[in-house]
Amino acid sequence: MAHGAHRSPLLPPRPDLGLARDCEVCLGWGTVITRDGDHELCHACQALPGDDEDAVRQG
Ligand SMILES: [Zn+2]
Repeated sequence: MAHGAHRSPLLPPRPDLGLARDCEVCLGWGTVITRDGDHELCHACQALPGDDEDAVRQG
């Protein structure tokens, strides 16, 4: 349920650049690009509290 909300690819999530600053994973962007070309908050530095948004379960 509530699983098919399409977001515009032109509106990536808004990361906290303060946290991303020293991150080696996203290189300070706070977001990473998935294989599908989507922007996603960097899981390394953008420590989100329980987020029910989407697929974080893919190895
Ligand atoms: Zn990061």
